[in-house]
Amino acid sequence: MGEQQKPIWTCLMFNNAARPKAYFTMWIMMNQRLVTVDRLAKWGVEVEKTCVLCENEEETAEHVFIQCSFARGLWGRLLNWTGKQIDVPMTWEHFVQWCIIHGKGKRAEAMKFKTILAEGIYGLWMERNSRVFEHKSKTEDQLVKEITYITIVRTSTRFKGNVSHYGVK
Ligand SMILES: [Zn+2]
Repeated sequence: MGEQQKPIWTCLMFNNAARPKAYFTMWIMMNQRLVTVDRLAKWGVEVEKTCVLCENEEETAEHVFIQCSFARGLWGRLLNWTGKQIDVPMTWEHFVQWCIIHGKGKRAEAMKFKTILAEGIYGLWMERNSRVFEHKSKTEDQLVKEITYITIVRTSTRFKGNVSHYGVK
């Protein structure tokens, strides 16, 4: 793919009701530019390699956002909340394609998906950073509540009506 060619996932950026900092984080994530420890290692920086979310596997972007048990638990709950019974793919390439399939187009459903996707990516990355740098952690439950709350607020002001069926527990 040439430098000039627009990546196919840019459709996820349009009509996305997520907060700017959230979809900006998604943009960096999709470009594979978030500084995970595998990338630090390539620059010769040695840091703790274990993922702080599951404390089990080595941290890579693919792991943190897609394969990590913490991330999968979060995505499962968020998708379930939107009424989608779909499995999150396990590899980066499939994940990106899957995001495009569900986020493409102007339907309210696609917009909701994109918003929750960006806020979910942002939530995971912020949680990872707060565990690494501040040694503070939130539970999956807290993150689900925060992300669903912000999604309701953002989508209800952006897309009038049609959010009343969200049942937040
Ligand atoms: Zn993990």
